[in-house]
Amino acid sequence: MEDAPITTSTPIAEPARSGLGVDALRRDIVDNLICLQARYPEIATPHDWYMALAYTVRDRMMTRGVATGHAYVSHSAKIACYLSAEFLIGPQLGNNLIALGIENNVRSALRSLGVELDALIAIEEEPGLGNGGLGRLAACYMDSLSTLEIPAIGYGIRYEFGIFDQEIRDGWQVEVTDKWLQKGNPWEIARPDIAFYVNFGGRTESETDEQGRLRVRWIPGYTVKGVACDTPLPGFRVNTCNMLRLWKSEAIESFDLQDFNAGDYYEAVHEKVKSETLSKVLYPNDEPESGKRLRLAQQYFFVSCSLQDMLRLLALKGEPVGRFAYLFTAQLNDTHPSIAVAELMRLLVDEKLLPWDEAWDITRRALAYTNHTLLPEALETWGLPLFQSLLPRPLEIIYEINRRFLDEVRHRYPGDDARIARMSMIDESGAKRVRMAHLATIGSHAVNGVAALHTKLLEETVLRDFAELWPERFRNVTNGVTPRRFVMLSNPGLASLLGEAVGEHWATDLAKLRKLDEYADDAAFQDRWRRVKRANKDLLAANIRSATGIAVDPAALFDIQVKRIHEYKRQHLNALYIITLYERLRLDPHLEVPPRCFVFGGKAAPGYAMAKLIIRLITGVAEVVNNDPVVNGRLKVVFFPDFNVKNAQFIYPAADLSEQISTAGKEASGTGNMKFMMNGALTIGTLDGANVEIREEVGDENFFLFGLTAEAVERVKREGYRPADYVCANDELHGVIEAIGSGRFSRGDREMFRPLLDNLLNHDPFLVLADYAAYVARQQDVSTAWQDTRRWNRMSILNTARSGKFSSDRAIREYCEQIWKIEPVRIALERRR
Ligand SMILES: *Cc1c(COP(=O)(O)O)cnc(C)c1O
Repeated sequence: MEDAPITTSTPIAEPARSGLGVDALRRDIVDNLICLQARYPEIATPHDWYMALAYTVRDRMMTRGVATGHAYVSHSAKIACYLSAEFLIGPQLGNNLIALGIENNVRSALRSLGVELDALIAIEEEPGLGNGGLGRLAACYMDSLSTLEIPAIGYGIRYEFGIFDQEIRDGWQVEVTDKWLQKGNPWEIARPDIAFYVNFGGRTESETDEQGRLRVRWIPGYTVKGVACDTPLPGFRVNTCNMLRLWKSEAIESFDLQDFNAGDYYEAVHEKVKSETLSKVLYPNDEPESGKRLRLAQQYFFVSCSLQDMLRLLALKGEPVGRFAYLFTAQLNDTHPSIAVAELMRLLVDEKLLPWDEAWDITRRALAYTNHTLLPEALETWGLPLFQSLLPRPLEIIYEINRRFLDEVRHRYPGDDARIARMSMIDESGAKRVRMAHLATIGSHAVNGVAALHTKLLEETVLRDFAELWPERFRNVTNGVTPRRFVMLSNPGLASLLGEAVGEHWATDLAKLRKLDEYADDAAFQDRWRRVKRANKDLLAANIRSATGIAVDPAALFDIQVKRIHEYKRQHLNALYIITLYERLRLDPHLEVPPRCFVFGGKAAPGYAMAKLIIRLITGVAEVVNNDPVVNGRLKVVFFPDFNVKNAQFIYPAADLSEQISTAGKEASGTGNMKFMMNGALTIGTLDGANVEIREEVGDENFFLFGLTAEAVERVKREGYRPADYVCANDELHGVIEAIGSGRFSRGDREMFRPLLDNLLNHDPFLVLADYAAYVARQQDVSTAWQDTRRWNRMSILNTARSGKFSSDRAIREYCEQIWKIEPVRIALERRR
């Protein structure tokens, strides 16, 4: 055999797998196409090209990821661990190109191969590993952590089936299983060597060891293995590339040999299937469904794996267990990971043999808790029998923590039995339940709400006794969103205009947008601003057309409400307004109504009948309004199916008006409101969540405020709210209710919306009817403002200009300084050949 011939073509100067130039990228894309996809260019499908490109980009990130990991182990730097049951990270390709700053070079490299980058970006399936705001927040925070060069790891669950895909059939939501892993996931690195065992069920035994210590042994009913799957998350134009580490459950052995040898083949396979079920599917509810054993098992599974991994890293750093809280901090994203309090205690006391007091000190100093809700039905609790049977040892630890805690409370408030009962980790008012918010609060050194109003209400209501006992532990960290994904990637037209106006650094220093104030009245700048918005609306119009068949006029006011469908978010209030306008046009076809296009999007939990009926009302109104000649195209109503991060990226930038109309006191923060604002939408909204701070920043004259305040809502309820009175007092509202009841929006079916109307007229727990008149009036102001183009453009520019506070970079800096006490670590790249 002869050696391969020596090639004579000009060598590419840049090293394989890390070069960022066009030639190196082109060479490596083709190499990956051949070596990893086993295809040659002439027959490659778009998906082959996508995979080849994704691996090419991943290689560049690995250089950074490995350097980052090495630095974290060799430095004594503290690492922020973000524990979250959900990470809604969205499509990765476009974002990673922007982070690395290689979008243009990749575009050129592909073009020279006859392939269009945008077509490849468009075919990527997003990992739907979250329900909505909470999971997306975790993803925005991971982006900021890497960009700010903060040592961090995201810990969660690698669901095989994420949030369902939503289809609309016959006007109703239909859920379709999400198959995001079907074609393989090029971003993920499986780490079979990083795996931990997690116990469930069984019983405990205590014994005294040689040193005379009481030791508890957990004899589990069964054990599951958690295997790490890593996704690198690069920072923007820095070398830091942190990992999102998601746990996948596996059976310990492929087959239980004992069962197998005993001939019980099916039993052996059954055990395997049971273990692998753990990380199979994400619960598609925004709030907990009570009593779902599998859900509690998922929470314990990922928390235990994550804490064991942190202990492994501590050992790798060559540090003793006593240093745990100096080298790690774990943020609990809502109560889903709150079992961490008991599990860290178990690991330290049972496995590392630390004395209880020392373990408790470490646990409290390491953990911090973010509360996300005040809704009583969304506060997580678990029935004692279920908890006992699934997690007997953690429950014993919870009892012991509670016993010691209640002694402390008794000491502080002697004789106050009511307070003891209120603060206990066990709710004994009915069938006994474990209160996870209490567990999280008692086991953390810091507790935070997610907007100023939310934190205030938290301290006054659900955690009041705790805020009184430990006022120094409570603080606010208002949520934020990443301007890289939600402006730079989603709205490239706006991004380049911003770069020209305020300089290139706005994307990592969003306060710089303030400089836009100077341009608010500049006619030439306003025109460019308007053209950017118009291009975004053209794009949304095209997407609406292909997704729904509905033609909308991009010149109309785009009035958008996208978020999970929930009664407290009041999509039905918006629908009542649309019907109001429609009824006005029916009465007076010549009425002057500036053209408006109402766009809705969002998923309803599969078991939430009222939310699904609200979707049906919207699609019913759309069907009638869009086709009635009386309307003559002046109003259009669209339900955009399958709202997810990928669709969000072309929806937020196209909005003129952002609907943030939740009942005051119910939305903890909201983050959609911030994405709209950054992209130049004006808000019509209540004084709820972060809307309060948005209005503060932008000024009341640039915000359409309406509705009852949180205090007024409580007062109205206290005084006996009678929703039907509002219908009697308002002819227009009466007409709207009648129209819905008449079957006008349900193809003549008078029964379809009965449950919705009954609920509104007799209960209306979210005060839709009480806020109706104020909402309709404020919408009239919106129409008036819209007709004055100059005024509207000015307000739009000012909204973007004053959105700097809502960058997730600001939020992460606050977590670092106030809660985690962590500083950035700069990552150096060695040149590799
Ligand atoms: C931002 C976002 C949300 C949260 O929206 P809210 O209006 O704050 O409820 C939900 N889903 C997706 C896909 C998002 O991007």
